[in-house]
Amino acid sequence: MVVVRRVRLGGRKENEEMASSSRLSLDRLSFILCAGGRLCGDASRRASTKSATLKRLLGYIRSPGDSKMGANASQLEKELNSDHVLNNEHFYGLINFGNTCYCNSVIQALYFCRPFRERILQYKTQLKKSGNQKENLLTCLADLFHNIANQKRRVGTIAPKRFITKLKKENELFDNYMQQDAHEFLNYLLNTISETLSEERRENATRQNGTLKKSTFLHSSNPVSCSNGVDTSPIGPKPSTSASKSEPTWIHEIFMGTLTNETRCLNCETVSCKEEEFLDLSVDVERDASLTHCLREFSATETLRGDQKYHCENCCSKQEAQKRMRIRKAPPMLALHLKRFKYLDNLGRHAKISCRVPFPLELRLFNLSDDASGSDRLYDLVAAVVHCGSTPNRGHYITVVKASSFWLLFDDDIVDKIEPNTIEDFFGLSESGVQKNSESAYILFYQARDFANGSTLLTADAHHNSF
Ligand SMILES: [Zn+2]
Repeated sequence: MVVVRRVRLGGRKENEEMASSSRLSLDRLSFILCAGGRLCGDASRRASTKSATLKRLLGYIRSPGDSKMGANASQLEKELNSDHVLNNEHFYGLINFGNTCYCNSVIQALYFCRPFRERILQYKTQLKKSGNQKENLLTCLADLFHNIANQKRRVGTIAPKRFITKLKKENELFDNYMQQDAHEFLNYLLNTISETLSEERRENATRQNGTLKKSTFLHSSNPVSCSNGVDTSPIGPKPSTSASKSEPTWIHEIFMGTLTNETRCLNCETVSCKEEEFLDLSVDVERDASLTHCLREFSATETLRGDQKYHCENCCSKQEAQKRMRIRKAPPMLALHLKRFKYLDNLGRHAKISCRVPFPLELRLFNLSDDASGSDRLYDLVAAVVHCGSTPNRGHYITVVKASSFWLLFDDDIVDKIEPNTIEDFFGLSESGVQKNSESAYILFYQARDFANGSTLLTADAHHNSF
């Protein structure tokens, strides 16, 4: 399988950060807040959110009457009916099973990444045809998407129980009631799905071609790859020990891009290029800097000197060097992770960087390498996972999605229509501190405009990706 490394830049603390973020503090259990004034999935604790202290902490409280669900679902349904593009669309809130908003928020965002949804639904159709009764994270997600897509009503609530149960069973890191990192979950989910698809392809090949082919397959590996292909995630699937790299799956077709890491030795001027694959890009955030600025910084030239000197193969010694990272292949679906949770040396703990990072609804990538494919790609924001709360270990995740002419907000089981200008509320905290809530976009999903008609592209590729 191809395990795609999540690319992190500018963070030497990252590994350490990841290791501790996955077991972030126990006080999550006792004090987990939702921006909506609800505690994630724990009705018994909701009453306590009425306390004035908590109200101050939360910034704003959503009263139950604000909900569009229940009696108001039909009102939302009526409004949605005015947009004919949305004729076959379903908008279903997901029940929270106790701090599972990290999961709900990512699932909602992925549901509205249409190429992803189409592939999941296709998978479900094939699964039905094959009569296969197996159960894994992919089949559970396929069931959930199928369930949503085949509801009679346009708007409602659904319980992703089987998916959550399976998730907890498959990975002990999720087998608790603690708040988890939505980005970690996204990465785990995409890698796991891809791994499952690869396994199934191997099984199919074995079944179709008999044992003779099997041995051939096991020894086929990608001979030349500049990618280091190492997953640094503590919860991601481990790369196979055989170091074989199987063919990309549709997860890669949708989300995978490549970066070129160029290092120029300042002594001999030799430039070495290394390619890295990514399923999402992690970018550092800066106070009052736009996403465009953050992306520019991502590709800024960095000089390696002192104890960071680079070992130049040509000089056969450590040399000062200039390094920069540029996008070589822009993915059809660009998932941008804003690194808002950081270990701060001066605090000695993880903190959330709530600063305002304005992001555009239309994004044009500019930090492409000279030989980049898919250059001049224009992207549209289709979904954003938003973290609400002031610290990494307590908080809540919600999702905003674009569906035709509508923007909708999914807060676990609640679905709301929001005005487009509300998106600005999710940029983060402005310096003035006027804006009290700390809701800030955490993962942004941009879809390439030339990929909008993704199904056509995907069908064309379908021959080498039966599953
Ligand atoms: Zn050199």
